[in-house]
Amino acid sequence: MQTSFTLAQLADPNIAEADRILRTCVHCGFCTATCPTYVLLGDELDSPRGRIYLIKDMLEHDRPASAEVVKHIDRCLSCLACMTTCPSGVHYMHLVDHARAHIENTYARPRVDRLLRALLARVLPNNDLLRRALAAARLGKPFAGLFAALGLKPVAAMLRLAPARLPAKFAGSGRRLFPPCAPRRGRVALLTGCVSPVIAPAINAAAIRVLTRHGIEVVVADEGCCGSLVHHMGRAPEALSAARRQIDAWSAEIEGEGLDAILVTASGCGTTVKDYGYLLRTDETYAAKALRVSRLAKDISEYLSGLELSSERDPAGLVVAYHSACSLQHGQKIARAPKELLCKIGFVVKDVPEGHLCCGSAGTYNMLQPELARRLRERKVGNIEKLKPDVIAAGNIGCMTQIAAGTVIPVVHTAELIDWATGGPEPEALAGKRGSTAAAAPVALAK
Ligand code: SF4
Ligand code: SF4
Repeated sequence: MQTSFTLAQLADPNIAEADRILRTCVHCGFCTATCPTYVLLGDELDSPRGRIYLIKDMLEHDRPASAEVVKHIDRCLSCLACMTTCPSGVHYMHLVDHARAHIENTYARPRVDRLLRALLARVLPNNDLLRRALAAARLGKPFAGLFAALGLKPVAAMLRLAPARLPAKFAGSGRRLFPPCAPRRGRVALLTGCVSPVIAPAINAAAIRVLTRHGIEVVVADEGCCGSLVHHMGRAPEALSAARRQIDAWSAEIEGEGLDAILVTASGCGTTVKDYGYLLRTDETYAAKALRVSRLAKDISEYLSGLELSSERDPAGLVVAYHSACSLQHGQKIARAPKELLCKIGFVVKDVPEGHLCCGSAGTYNMLQPELARRLRERKVGNIEKLKPDVIAAGNIGCMTQIAAGTVIPVVHTAELIDWATGGPEPEALAGKRGSTAAAAPVALAK
């Protein structure tokens, strides 16, 4: 694709990068076939190619974002299916991230929209605020229909997604060390994140048990949110601040006792941490440290694939529908590792038809675009239920919450199944829903 940026525009490294990306697009349109919004809406402007044209036009003319551009960019899930399909290697993720930041800087959203976004950006990354907000949301759940009728569909979506009860807090706070329970084979940091410790602390607990059981020392050194949620809302300064906080915390560990890897159990966050090197490439103080962190970042399934896992329990016969989170399959190109891990330890793993299509979760998307998110969830759940699985496994808390809101089939994290099969307790979501309810005693978390 030809571009016509001026030399002055190209002096901005973000525009120079956008120019490089735009020039790789050959307009072939292959990406449209796998784009969830194009599949649902059939509008070229809701396809990757259409959005690329809109972004090009906006940036080349150095124009503030228009309501039309915002509508179509907001509808993009950042699922990155288009990047998997594109034969030309167009880095759509960096392009749309830049477009979202441009929108945030140049477009005045309607007041309710602005308030809602500010609220999400403030509450979601903060464990305490999120916990309090979810407690309040439980009381507001019966009024979800009323909010929808008043035109406040995002508020209604938030209430519907809020869990009916909140689990106990993730063990401890601040820097925590979990020594290995077997001869030491490595040392890793685990990102606890922001949403996961509040609504599903069992995921990180399971990951720590699996790792320590196999001789891996785990340190929790992070500072909560990795910045992913606000990054996808175009709030670049907040996202970069969060990234710098994490990098400082992990750099202290790397330069102290050393780290073999930085593990992430939420693949949406993992994609962002793996991109820190790019996001901070022009920051003289952080560029090298950010790149070092990104190179160490691994999804939990990616790391466990390199370990010889002991099998303590035979889950033969348990049918798992594996939902491949977009951030894992498209963002990190990890498609086979989680399935192979589950198969190796005895689960019967089934691929979900149309597995390349997003479930509609996508960070805050299911709250900000509830109608499209609902349609995508219904399609996803329909495809999953055809498989008649005993359980649904996914590697991303966002997908788990989104899918669980549309089905009675238990939804667990891949790490919870691996923990269970290698000697940990039965995942809570499974207890009482299968023939056997003989849950193993919880393995105490080493501190
Ligand atoms: S990221 Fe997903 S929703 Fe957005 S253009 Fe690409 S395929 Fe479509
Ligand atoms: S598949 Fe790639 S090259 Fe073709 S239109 Fe889409 S983004 Fe452009």
